[in-house]
Amino acid sequence: IVSARSVRKSFGHVEVLKGIDMDVHAGEVACLLGPSGSGKSTFLRCINHLEKIDGGQLWVHGERIGYRRIGDRLRELKEHETSRQRASVGMVFQQFNLFPHRTALENVIEGPMVVQRRPKAEVVEEGMALLERVGLAEKRNHYPGQLSGGQQQRVAIARALALKPSVMLFDEPTSALDPELVGEVLDVMVQLAASGMTMIVVTHEMGFAKEVGDVVHFMADGCLVESGDPCQVLEDPREARTQAFLSKVL
Ligand code: ATP
Ligand code: MG
Repeated sequence: IVSARSVRKSFGHVEVLKGIDMDVHAGEVACLLGPSGSGKSTFLRCINHLEKIDGGQLWVHGERIGYRRIGDRLRELKEHETSRQRASVGMVFQQFNLFPHRTALENVIEGPMVVQRRPKAEVVEEGMALLERVGLAEKRNHYPGQLSGGQQQRVAIARALALKPSVMLFDEPTSALDPELVGEVLDVMVQLAASGMTMIVVTHEMGFAKEVGDVVHFMADGCLVESGDPCQVLEDPREARTQAFLSKVL
């Protein structure tokens, strides 16, 4: 459902993605590991069109990111046209990025109302069902400042789901949380994976990668170094760079 072909991205003179090829299939949970600065966040931001790539191609659900088809030609999207395409890719960040002056429910329904211009009543009903799903229905009128980090992150997941994305991207969703709050967020992600959602998860939670991941991709220095079954990559990596990284984090 997500295909990356020779994806390149530079910031100034620094090449941060040096030709990434990756396929993530429908319903798959792909975990992305790698040292700090290897380009994991940048890669996710490219998939969500928060960054424009300098070379290669990215496809999500049959659509080329940054382009639209007119007849048999592809035309580059203008900046204001990207929001519809971006809505098909849900993203959850390390910092929850909720609107501080909106309640949990208002945060969840903002996207469908503003981006998709859907009627409020319908969106509220769906928003409530989503809050229910992440276990926060009774907190619907709370503001982010009145919620714990774990609760805020669960609201952020519900908010991303409200746009009915075909894939969900998670960028270290639990690393800003106190240890005792990590579990409740991982539980929601496990549930989401079980529901068949396609997910790309940048994480340092090796347990999650092993138990929930269908595949692990290891990135270093802007390159995809090795991909495979989570147990194989984590316990018996083929590449020296993967071994070196794992010996430090495990
Ligand atoms: P971490 O594990 O620390 O989150 P990462 O693998 O997510 O690391 P990225 O955030 O993708 O790494 O960064 C890759 C490289 O790109 C880094 O060297 C970073 O400094 C650089 N970089 C990222 N965003 C920008 C930007 N907007 N402008 C300039 N350089 C950037
Ligand atoms: Mg990062």
